[in-house]
Amino acid sequence: MSPTTQAPTIFWFRRDLRLSDNPALVEAATLSAQGVLGLFIIDPSLLATSGSTRAGFLLSTLRSLSASMNEQLVVRTGDPVEVLSALAASTGARVVVATGDYAPAGMARDQRVRGALAALGVELRLVDSPYVVVPGTVRTKAGTPSRVFTPFFRHWLTEPQPPPVPVPEGLRWLSAESSDLAEILPLAATKRPSYFGDLPDGPAPLEIPAGEVAAHSLVAGFASRVAAYDDARNLPGVTGTSRLSPHLRFGSIHPRQVLATLSGATKGHEVFTSEIAWREFYADVLFHNPDSTHVNIQRSLDGLRVDRDAAAVARFQTWARGETGFPLVDAGMRQLLEEGWMHNRVRMVTASFLVKHLHLDWRWGAHWFMWRLVDGDVASNQQGWQWTAGTGTDASPYYRVFNPTLQAERFDPGGDYVRRYVSELASVPAPACLQPGGGSSSESLFAYARPMIDLSNERREALDRLAELRGPGG
Ligand SMILES: Cc1cc2nc3c(=O)[nH]c(=O)nc-3n(C[C@H](O)[C@H](O)[C@H](O)COP(=O)(O)OP(=O)(O)OC[C@H]3O[C@@H](n4cnc5c(N)ncnc54)[C@H](O)[C@@H]3O)c2cc1C
Repeated sequence: MSPTTQAPTIFWFRRDLRLSDNPALVEAATLSAQGVLGLFIIDPSLLATSGSTRAGFLLSTLRSLSASMNEQLVVRTGDPVEVLSALAASTGARVVVATGDYAPAGMARDQRVRGALAALGVELRLVDSPYVVVPGTVRTKAGTPSRVFTPFFRHWLTEPQPPPVPVPEGLRWLSAESSDLAEILPLAATKRPSYFGDLPDGPAPLEIPAGEVAAHSLVAGFASRVAAYDDARNLPGVTGTSRLSPHLRFGSIHPRQVLATLSGATKGHEVFTSEIAWREFYADVLFHNPDSTHVNIQRSLDGLRVDRDAAAVARFQTWARGETGFPLVDAGMRQLLEEGWMHNRVRMVTASFLVKHLHLDWRWGAHWFMWRLVDGDVASNQQGWQWTAGTGTDASPYYRVFNPTLQAERFDPGGDYVRRYVSELASVPAPACLQPGGGSSSESLFAYARPMIDLSNERREALDRLAELRGPGG
């Protein structure tokens, strides 16, 4: 299709920091004969609650994106309403194109931007989404949203899944005055809740290389391992998963591209596709339940007693520092501190421990994860927490409590994962290194934390609190 106007089109990069398989970018290129102004807006209000590791990954991703645009990425800092209004006025652009954002804050922002631009006679055009299937699309036969993953997945598989599109040919980037991308870092992680106390803020070194090329190399490397994914994905001590989550978070690769490269008929391929679909399910759940970022989906659990006093804050910080005395929990929390990433199995175990054994509010734990995670994503994180806490849609029932010691024995039987992150246990063999306090091993007894709680007492306490909420016969 030939370009239609002489005015430049503004392409607003958000969660699609790539050039290939970017249908919104194709649309922008189609619209303007003069060229496309590729813009990224540093929004201080979003960065304030973003941890420094994720901000660092964003910065590296943007640097890589700009390099692939001959350094023509235009960067502005401020409220998107003001930035876009000013840029449209100064360039004469009539259309701003972006990939749709389906998270509550993004949708509210886009509504404000759309209104402000419309008043100037400028259109905000949203195309595609960060998902294979746009959130809100999948419906049951009765036409209602799916509250449960399995039917969602079945319907999701039947939705059209268009093949990836190439980089638009002859794309001409327009230049404009630009701020420095490095402005991102000082704006990140400035708004911390008081219960974080003096927990560390600093960025973890980026273990996962950023940018579009790096994302494709990760997929290529994972292609030889995906057939074994079904078994390996639950073992935190081995590299059994793709590590694509930060790339999917920032859109340096689209899940369409991942699935197109990793198609295959093994059980591993099938399970991997279903994990990608979990990401889509959670985006769909959030789309239909926008307040589930902070409100229980199961409102019947609203009255469940959680602790919030000074002792609760101290317990929270012991958990966050990885000093609980439960090796798998501590290994996970230290991996989060050191790398800004944590294995999925261990995310479930550490989250369950906070809610069911420490009787703390899942929102505190979710906030800490969002603060530290390089892949922190409001849909997957808040719904992952609600699932573990038993408050979400299609959640693990509240009375199901992960035992961190049994989980360690089952999924890290040789203790490789625990020993890698809990240095006090580095020379303690399994199974002792998997036991509370490092077992009875004399080497570990003094250096490693004593278990902060008795698992069976606190499990009983969690179930008592549930019974108290349900009332007699509940
Ligand atoms: C309490 C809790 C919090 C979580 N917070 C986040 C978060 O903030 N951001 C995030 O991307 N994921 C989150 N997850 C999901 C999951 O842990 C990560 O997506 C996964 O560990 C990322 O590693 P990977 O890319 O190697 O995954 P792989 O196993 O290789 O999976 C491939 C992709 O599928 C998606 N995926 C896999 N498992 C899940 C899942 N259970 N839920 C949703 N998507 C999934 C991810 O996009 C992942 O990158 C959370 C899970 C829990 C239990």
